Amino acid sequence: MKITLATHNDGKLMEFSELLPDYELVSLTSFDFALPEETGTTYEENALIKARAAREAIGGVVLADDSGLSIDCLDGAPGLYSSRFAGIEADYDDKIEAIWHLLDGFPPEQWTASFFCVLALILSDGETRTFEGRVDGLILPEKRGTNGFGFDPIFYVPHLGKTTAELSHQDKNAISHRGLAVQKLRRFLQELKGPRKDA
Ligand code: IMP
Repeated sequence: MKITLATHNDGKLMEFSELLPDYELVSLTSFDFALPEETGTTYEENALIKARAAREAIGGVVLADDSGLSIDCLDGAPGLYSSRFAGIEADYDDKIEAIWHLLDGFPPEQWTASFFCVLALILSDGETRTFEGRVDGLILPEKRGTNGFGFDPIFYVPHLGKTTAELSHQDKNAISHRGLAVQKLRRFLQELKGPRKDA
């Protein structure tokens, strides 16, 4: 089965191709098409906005995702704005500094947080499904580990005693918000048709 991933980000394409090895994934980079603004009020709405726009433009089977980091003592911020809250130009180091700045004044034991991911799938006949994943952890006041991306060096998973940047790809995928959402998606696709590249 060929699946169009509603992103122009080739890193995301690589990550999803690893997570869904039985499917042929293509991104939007080869299409002259811009995704609409993420104006939803939930991860699910944003994933659906992206999936529906890509589906309208390209057709076929489409998959979109939305993800972010919610910090409890910040009432869930940066949440839906995780990629943009520190400004469009900010790199990941700037974003981590911005998180520490927001947490200044809260004791570190209150720095509990969760990564969320919602996937939206639209099948050829228009059937639409969403799949959610979540991982709970704690924000650290220093960086640990060099794997992963984004907030991984400061996202500590207590039961593993490691940040997600200290986990291998495989170990992160086994517990991560994205990995768990993809597991649900894979189960659904397998029940639907079986894993074929030519469906
Ligand atoms: P989006 O899903 O492309 O809108 O990006 C969400 C943002 O949340 C990313 O730019 C990262 O800052 C953060 N994020 C989402 N998932 C992860 C993860 O697995 N590790 C680290 N940061 C993440």
